Amino acid sequence: YLVEKTPSLGGHMAQLDKTFPTMDCSICILGPKMVDTSKHENIHVFTYSEIEDIQGYVGNFKVKIRKKAKFVTDDCTGCGVCAKFCPVEFPNEFDLGLANRKAIYVPFPQAVPLIYTIDAENCIGCGLCEAVCEPKSIDFFQKDEIVEVDVGTIIIATGYDIYDVSRIEEYGYGRYKNVINSLEFERLINASGPTEGKITRLSDGKEPKRIAFIQCVGSRSEKDNPYCPGVCCMYSLKHAQQIKEKNPDTEVSVFYMDIRAVGKGYEEFYWRAKDSDIKFVRGRPSRIVECANQNLRIFVEDTLAGRSEEMEFDMVILAPTMIPSNIEKLRKMLNLSRSQDGFLMEAHPKLRPVDTL
Ligand code: SF4
Ligand code: SF4
Ligand code: SF4
Repeated sequence: YLVEKTPSLGGHMAQLDKTFPTMDCSICILGPKMVDTSKHENIHVFTYSEIEDIQGYVGNFKVKIRKKAKFVTDDCTGCGVCAKFCPVEFPNEFDLGLANRKAIYVPFPQAVPLIYTIDAENCIGCGLCEAVCEPKSIDFFQKDEIVEVDVGTIIIATGYDIYDVSRIEEYGYGRYKNVINSLEFERLINASGPTEGKITRLSDGKEPKRIAFIQCVGSRSEKDNPYCPGVCCMYSLKHAQQIKEKNPDTEVSVFYMDIRAVGKGYEEFYWRAKDSDIKFVRGRPSRIVECANQNLRIFVEDTLAGRSEEMEFDMVILAPTMIPSNIEKLRKMLNLSRSQDGFLMEAHPKLRPVDTL
């Protein structure tokens, strides 16, 4: 039984353009796996569902799953006609608000299952979707359903959220339009994203000619989170190389403390970035100031050169740390402990690293 809280399988990986270090297309790897999972005779997929209650003990759990009403039946063919007629638009969470979706929607075109969902909070009840749906799949009277399953083992795979970078006020995220975070950049560079893969500034839609990456945002600091999630160096190196591949004339600079490239082929990936005319500046910028033309001035101490510098860019991409997704309710149901960093605590760091007590 696979329980997913959003209307589709896929999670963050579905939002990504490419994977490091091989630069494979993310959805090309993920798409077939999502389809195989949903069609597997021994896997029951519950999307738009949450865990309501867990009782029992190892080997003998009773789990109550709330299947939230989608107000669309399984007869939906995914044709999308309803969404064309729906008059209500909202920022699409999947695109981090960079594009809109309708009140009846699928989060992304390759969603599995390809069944539309009505966002009950924002639907105005106009009935247009019902009028145009040929298979008569709209059911405004659908109710949440509780399903109870018996299982021996529970695997928690609730993933991560990204750190809210607006908390680092000196970088101006949320105030300066051309300061964005890495997940937003994933959507910008993705061919199926809001700009169809064209890298543009949010302030004026122009192509940025000078782009800066700032590493360790919200991580490796006593003020925010002390830990290093170990992936943001790699995804920023990936982004920097993608920019160079698309627009070789764009100047790309990476402001870093150390590059942590730990994994098979990762160091070589870093070398490739260094050979691709990408500038590396060792130092954590102290602040960003927006200029009149909405360019951004970065103040930094280059710790290798031993001098303070000011540099101007058209766009800045912050590499936020990863934080645990909000699973407090689930954690309490299972009586699990958290480590100091907020992530679930393992039974033993060496002997049982993916197991809980
Ligand atoms: Fe098509 Fe109806 Fe499904 Fe909308 S709800 S995608 S109109 S089948
Ligand atoms: Fe959109 Fe709701 Fe109207 Fe359907 S009933 S078209 S979902 S606003
Ligand atoms: Fe660690 Fe690199 Fe992320 Fe900094 S940017 S926290 S060094 S992975």
